[in-house]
Amino acid sequence: MAERILLVEDEEKLARMVELELQYEGYQVDKAFDGPSGLEKALSGKFQLVLLDVMLPGMSGMEVLRRLRKESQVPVIMLTARDAVMDKVSGLDLGANDYITKPFAIEELLARIRAAFRVTARSPETEETETLRVGPLTLEPDSRQVTVKGERVELTRKEFDLLEYLLRNKGKVVTRDALLDHVWGFDFVGETNAVDVYIRFLRTKLDEKFDLKLIRTVRGVGYVIEETEG
Ligand code: CA
Repeated sequence: MAERILLVEDEEKLARMVELELQYEGYQVDKAFDGPSGLEKALSGKFQLVLLDVMLPGMSGMEVLRRLRKESQVPVIMLTARDAVMDKVSGLDLGANDYITKPFAIEELLARIRAAFRVTARSPETEETETLRVGPLTLEPDSRQVTVKGERVELTRKEFDLLEYLLRNKGKVVTRDALLDHVWGFDFVGETNAVDVYIRFLRTKLDEKFDLKLIRTVRGVGYVIEETEG
């Protein structure tokens, strides 16, 4: 059965374009062009996903989201204006599952939609515990546990996120910008050398403590975590 998506967007041309693309991908789409009717439709329970513009006539997307979340946990992806950092923060605070910045490439929107459906479809019973490994190190994203040679390593939240991101990109050089973007995200305020500082923390807790060379610096580019000999 095709998933039903509600698109709440007052720019009708954009709405029509997105609708056609979604239909082409096999989704069923319904549209609303203002806040109140968007909220009413979203509350109908007929949709498996809501794409919600922030700037809407009648009622802002934020207000729609706030009211919707009192009754429904339907996945919501916010469509925010470029660089509207506050919108992203308040949207996620209010319970949005994701956001995408306008103007967006349709492929990116489709990827976010697929990701949102994947998360929803994942039920606890069928979920396998994922384990990321490099050399003698294992990381379990769900339980947020890291072990080296079977010994548990305590990491702070940022250290853990950083290590997880490097592991998910094992063997690839990850730039500082990519790390800032994915690990610190839009709430990042501060010096860009934060990455280097946290890499140093990780090296102290992992490489130095266990005499490993897991995290390699690629000068002028970034970092890579990879299997090493010996
Ligand atoms: Ca709008």
